[in-house]
Amino acid sequence: MTIIVYYAGLVLMVLVDVLVAAWCIAASRREAETPFVCPNCGEVFYAKWYRLWWGRRLSLTMQGKAKLKCPRCGKTDLCRWMREGAE
Ligand SMILES: [Zn+2]
Repeated sequence: MTIIVYYAGLVLMVLVDVLVAAWCIAASRREAETPFVCPNCGEVFYAKWYRLWWGRRLSLTMQGKAKLKCPRCGKTDLCRWMREGAE
């Protein structure tokens, strides 16, 4: 009996992990649909969703900016996130 409870708990933990990962990927993909503006050359570009992972997502939510490499001038700087309603 104990072993069944143990395995049930293990499966549940894995399931929660998978759900959390899926949610994070979905959220990052949605955020990647919003373009960024380079502060150096004004280029508007889209970041790959996997670049908006964890730390960057936090700074996005907190200040609407993310440290990204501009595809035009190649500089890594805080790029403004053109989310709806902002300016
Ligand atoms: Zn640039």
